[in-house]
Amino acid sequence: MSEKIAIVTGGRRGIGLGIVEALTGKGYRVVATGVSPEPGEGLEKLGEKAVYLRADSAVTADRKRLLEAVEREFGRLDLLVNNAGIAPKVRADLLEMSEESFDRVIGTNLRGTFFMTQEAAKLMIRLRKDGEDPPMIVNIGSMSAYTSSTNRGEYCMSKAGVSMVTMLFADRLAPYGINVYEIRPGIIRTDMTEKVTEKYDRLIAGGITPIQRWGTPEDIGKAVAAIAGGAFPFSTGEILNVDGGFHLQRL
Ligand code: NDP
Repeated sequence: MSEKIAIVTGGRRGIGLGIVEALTGKGYRVVATGVSPEPGEGLEKLGEKAVYLRADSAVTADRKRLLEAVEREFGRLDLLVNNAGIAPKVRADLLEMSEESFDRVIGTNLRGTFFMTQEAAKLMIRLRKDGEDPPMIVNIGSMSAYTSSTNRGEYCMSKAGVSMVTMLFADRLAPYGINVYEIRPGIIRTDMTEKVTEKYDRLIAGGITPIQRWGTPEDIGKAVAAIAGGAFPFSTGEILNVDGGFHLQRL
């Protein structure tokens, strides 16, 4: 069987880069996307194992161009990791949130994830060959899917929506042997959380997570690599919390 091909959206830095590193370490060739013109240092270090393609997940033409490039260059798609995601530019109270911010965050995190999955799934179905390992899809959700943060409601709604995207495609794609998984990261040290470092330092020190440390992109990369390695063939629509135990209800 030829080399396995994965797409990791938002794979230039942060969690996405951690996923790209873990997958290339397991022998995948990865097409990583982002919105910046250049791949950046992290991807460049990986040499030919990772290819950068500028493609905005929120833009229909970009998603199409990405999938056409993957088909043309590699003729196969074994794994889609929907990781690209954004936080609101301003953390505004729920009573003040603008429609513009709602549309922006939902456009990338939910609309982008849904339509990327829709198109990628059709490509996977079309390119899949008998006797080969089945393709898979992994969505990077968030603990915000079930945690209320009233100063970034649009983000929470987008991630709750991603959970339904996971369920819907797990159901719809099972007849094709395509399993769909969701990873829910907790508090992970990346550019996204940089502005709120002090707040999270305080919360972690105060015991908000049973495992008292920041999560890292490597933590998420390991989880994606475990799924991509085929460890869960009889599970689909499954959610893996990679959050230091944040999701546990404690008394
Ligand atoms: P970062 O902001 O550090 O990195 C985001 C990456 O996504 C960048 O590479 C960026 O590209 C890319 N990106 C942003 N918008 C788009 C788009 N429209 N199309 C394609 N690529 C895009 O974020 P994180 O690494 O922290 O987050 C990654 C994912 O994990 C997100 O979905 C986030 O919601 C989720 N998550 C993060 C948590 C955390 O604590 N950090 C916790 C829970 C979930 P470029 O580099 O070109 O700007």
